[in-house]
Amino acid sequence: MFSVLKEQLEERLANLEDRLENDYHSFGDAEEVAHERGKVRGYKEVLELIAKLNVCDRHECDYYKHYLAYGPPELSHDEYHAASAKCAHWQTKALTWYDEHETGPVPTHIEQQCRFWEAKVRA
Ligand SMILES: [Zn+2]
Repeated sequence: MFSVLKEQLEERLANLEDRLENDYHSFGDAEEVAHERGKVRGYKEVLELIAKLNVCDRHECDYYKHYLAYGPPELSHDEYHAASAKCAHWQTKALTWYDEHETGPVPTHIEQQCRFWEAKVRA
């Protein structure tokens, strides 16, 4: 949702800056120009604020982009990120086990933990 807002603001800003630079006379008077320049500052300020929000605040993290795509949430946003950390922890354990052992399957408890947390986060 923020990406659409950001795109629209960037487009308006580009159009307005272009008009102020290349088609200055299309404005009625100095007051209108000052007003439009105020808009340019406003657009830039909002774009800066959007850029400052983190990926979760922008609703662009995996919870919003991936998890919710598979249906209604069973985990809250915070629970999802906590479960993702658990999932990554066990997946790393499995990978480390493969690095340290030439043959044989990964121990059952590690595999079960991986499957459990992968299912939780809909990986
Ligand atoms: Zn998030």
